[in-house]
This record gives sequence, C-alpha cells and structure tokens, in this order.
Amino acid sequence: MYYKSTRNSEVKVSSAQAIAQGISVDGGLFVPEEIPSISMEDLKKLGEQDYRARAKFVFGKFLTDFTEAEIAYCVDNAYNTKAFDTDNIAELAHLFDGTYMLELWHGPTCAFKDMALQILPYLLTTSTKKLHSDKKVVILVATSGDTGKAALEGFKNVPGTSIMVFYPEDGVSAMQKKQMTTQEGDNVGVCAIKGNFDDAQNGVKAIFTNREIAEELEKNGMMFSSANSINWGRLAPQIIYYISSYAQLLADGEISEGEKINIVVPTGNFGNILAGYYAKHMGVPVNKLICASNANNVLTDFLKTGIYDRNRDFHATISPSMDILISSNLERLLYMLSGENDALIREWFGKLASEGRYEVSDDVKKILFEEFSAGCCSDEETKATIKKIYDKYSYTCDTHTAVAVKVYEDYKAATGDQTKTIIASTASPYKFSGSVLSALGENTEASEFELVDKLAEVSGLAVPASLAALKDKDVRFTKVIDKTEMKDYVFSALGI
Ligand SMILES: *Cc1c(COP(=O)(O)O)cnc(C)c1O
Repeated sequence: MYYKSTRNSEVKVSSAQAIAQGISVDGGLFVPEEIPSISMEDLKKLGEQDYRARAKFVFGKFLTDFTEAEIAYCVDNAYNTKAFDTDNIAELAHLFDGTYMLELWHGPTCAFKDMALQILPYLLTTSTKKLHSDKKVVILVATSGDTGKAALEGFKNVPGTSIMVFYPEDGVSAMQKKQMTTQEGDNVGVCAIKGNFDDAQNGVKAIFTNREIAEELEKNGMMFSSANSINWGRLAPQIIYYISSYAQLLADGEISEGEKINIVVPTGNFGNILAGYYAKHMGVPVNKLICASNANNVLTDFLKTGIYDRNRDFHATISPSMDILISSNLERLLYMLSGENDALIREWFGKLASEGRYEVSDDVKKILFEEFSAGCCSDEETKATIKKIYDKYSYTCDTHTAVAVKVYEDYKAATGDQTKTIIASTASPYKFSGSVLSALGENTEASEFELVDKLAEVSGLAVPASLAALKDKDVRFTKVIDKTEMKDYVFSALGI
C-alpha cells in the first residue's frame, strides 16, 4: 500500500515515509492509494478479540511496509492498562435503546486524542528507524486544547524526539491550560500564542512547508514531523475504534450481521469523522455519518450546500476543541470524492487560502449529501442537552459530546430514522467541569479543583487520576508570543 499526496497524485510513498514526514512537500495530505476492505466474517472474528488484536488487524491493512512484529510492538506498548483506565481501551456505554456512547476518553489525558497519540510516537519512531534516518524528529503541534496535551504525554522523554506545542492563549479551558503548562519531560515545550486555533495551525503549517527552515533543520541533524491529524499516523488509529465498536455490538448481539448503524461525531478538524468514513468504506455497514458542530458551523453549511466559507465570525464556545474554521482533513475526503483530482484540490484549497471560500463540483456535492448529514447547536442548547441526558439517564457527558447528542436528536426528529447509532464521546466531563456543572445548574464560583470535587459528587464518576494529580504540579511554561514569532520560538528552543 502506497500513499499519495492530495495535491500531487504522482507522489508515491510508503506508510513509514508518510508518517515520518507528516505532510507532503507540496502542502498536500497523505492518503492511502486505495481503501482496503474487511468482510463481515472479519468483523465477526474481531468481535471475539480484544482491542489490541483488532488494532493489529486494521494496521496490518494500512501499514503494509511494517512487519507484524513492528505493528505488535507499537500496539502493545500503546493500548494497555498502564495508559488507559480500562482494558477495553474504548468503552461502549449503552445510553438508551439503540444508542451507544463510544467513550474515547479513557486514556491518560481524558480526551479522544489519546486513542491516536498514545500510539503515534511508536509508529513514528518505528517509521524513522525503517527509513534508516538518525535525525532527531521535531514535533510541532497546533492545538485547540486536547491534541497538545495528548501529544505531550505521548512524546515526553521519547528518545530521538522533541515536541513543541502552540495553543491559543484564550482558547482553551482552565483544565486544558493547567494540563499543558505543567507538562513534565526533558524534550517538551509549550507556548501560548495571541490568536485563535486557526492562527496556530496556519503558523505550524507555514513552518512545515518552508523549504529554508527545513534545510536549516537538516543541517542540524533534525527533521519536522506533525502530531496533528494531518499526519496519517493520527488518522489510522482512529479508524480502529469504529471497526472495533461494530465488531463489539455484533458480538454482544446488539446488532445483526450486516445491520447498518449511524455514526455521530462532534467535529472540528474533520479528522475523527473522516476515520468513520474510512471504516465505512472498508466494510463497516454505516447508514449516515452525522457531523456535529458548535456555533462555528462552517462544516454544517458546507455539508448542506457544498460551499465552504470561512469568512464568518469566530466564536469561542464551551466546546473549545471544536472552535475551528479550517477543517484540514476535509481535503482528504474531497480528494477521494473528486476521483483523486489533485488539480481540483489545488484549485479549491488555493481559493480557501486566498479568498476563504470554495464551492465543490455538483458530482462531489451529490456524494456529500448522500453520505453525510450535518447539524450544529449553540452553547445554550449544549448545556440544555447535558442537563437533559443527566436527568433522563443519569449520564454525565462533556460539552463536545453534548453537541453530538443534540445534533443527533435533531436529526432523529427531522428524519424519523430509527437506525441504531454510535455517538463518539470525545472527552471526559472533568476536562470541562465548570461548563458541565453550570449546565447542571450548580454554582461554579470556585477554583478548578473544587469544581472537580463537586462534579465528582454530582456525577458519581471517579475523578481521573491524571487530572487529580495536576493540582499539586508546578507551572513550567508561561510564554505568550505573537503568531509571527513562532519560527523564532522554534529555533531558539532547538538551539539553532
Ligand atoms: C479534537 C476534539 C474534537 C474534534 O475532533 P476532530 O478530529 O478535530 O474533528 C472533538 N471533541 C474533543 C473533545 C476534541 O478534543
């Protein structure tokens, strides 16, 4: 299996190369040249196996240049109970009849990013070894809150790597900031920027694709890579949990062989829902992929009209990890839907960069409307949903998950669709204690850790050990820079 670039179909690299490099030199994203298939028999067999076995099976389809032993090394080191608080790795909670919460936040940083970022360092260091590169890998991350911490935890003290994280100064929750600024490890750096997530992401992308900067690193025996979901090594692990949950539902007798399910995903960068799309086209029977957004509803409009228009106000919401107006992974989807038409992708994403807007062709629109449904909701609706789910089912969900629940309720009311449905639950409510408590009508004038204790009382959920431990940790990183200073920060941190 080889990987192509969305902006140049002539590019052909191994998965190790795609993962080590992160992004193609032409600015395109790496995509597999074809989507491998799995059968219903495979899904039945996977249902009898544990998460690690399921992961090895799926990686085996995509990382064909990795040996079985290399894949096993990566999987066994990432998906275990040292890092996750459940041996199931991803839990499937039954919310109500035919609706299941796919809890993706049982990892060390309590958000779904752990599902990929616990394994990415293993995939990446295995990849560079396979490529016989002895360069130090410098990971640059732009984060809307959760990726940064998950990447720091994944890469801390990993030999041969160094990691730098940029987050929007006012764009992350108190707990997220505390998680990042107290990060331990000898090879880590954390820096706030004056701007929003898109500014951080654009800054990182610009550094990645700047030839002079790359040459400077090369001279110093280093190379860049990415831990954002533009890296294929982030996306591949996310496909696993959709396949795993279908196999689990089948094994549990919740669905019958071949029965279709819906998948609802609270979306920002379009990575998690794109993983669902891959799972579907590998062979998981999926009816609709439902894309849920907050007030930053650029994707809702896109999936309803085929017009992507980022020329709109940016809203800071209570689901900050979805406060994004440029959804990078859409590029992968559109590359596939346009029949791998790299010229069209260059045109559309060129327009996005210059005018902030593009409109896809009619044939692409047709497929988009068939495969996806989309909706959005306000902070008020998100809070009302948290309260409703709590009152009705004694289930406490975080703000991002609540956006998905609300959009799914709206979808169901509008369509009458009774298909069984998996809702991706992307964060522990403890990451957003203040918003969740306020949704439940509680007084939130207290310190972050008092809020955590209060949420424990109200929800009955155990406080994740990693969050409880933050209370006594010292803040190590306080730097705030302008978005134009990111390159200087990187060079100075690397000592070049
Ligand atoms: C990152 C994140 C999202 C959005 O995921 P994408 O892959 O960017 O669409 C949703 N919820 C939470 C909690 C997140 O951390």
